[in-house]
Amino acid sequence: MCLEPTLLAKAVWEIDLDDLRSRGVKGIILDLDNTIAYWNEREVLPQAREWIARARERGLALYLVSNAFRGSRVRAVAGELGIGCVRRAGKPFGAGYRRAMKEMKISPAETCVIGDQVFTDILGGNRLGLTTILVEPLAARESPHTRLIRLIERPLRRRWARRSE
Ligand SMILES: [Mg+2]
Repeated sequence: MCLEPTLLAKAVWEIDLDDLRSRGVKGIILDLDNTIAYWNEREVLPQAREWIARARERGLALYLVSNAFRGSRVRAVAGELGIGCVRRAGKPFGAGYRRAMKEMKISPAETCVIGDQVFTDILGGNRLGLTTILVEPLAARESPHTRLIRLIERPLRRRWARRSE
């Protein structure tokens, strides 16, 4: 099913980088809001920052792809992390992911997407045949639009969590 992620994780920093590499992953596309930073904030959580540094040490490419409307914030975060970014990406549509893969010079089979939303991050990745990892949102604070979508997302998450137990 095109909504179900390849893997579930509690948070970005819980994801096993060696496991990703053994799956043939060479590059990671990261979501911003509620994945590596609180919604609408520009401060990346220290644990996420450390994990990103470890990924880089292992030779993995990284790219930030965000639907956030305020593009200047996305650019500031990406600049600080020293990685490229796509702003106002329009996920689940594929243009942002395709651009990130082109910049990282990797194929869909070598790409992993990590995000906190099923209907944008995961659906977009699955449509392109990427490895997809759904994390739990960092906090409950988010846009009213996203909160509505969570009503549909929550039962799906519960079902997948039960299945992976
Ligand atoms: Mg998000």
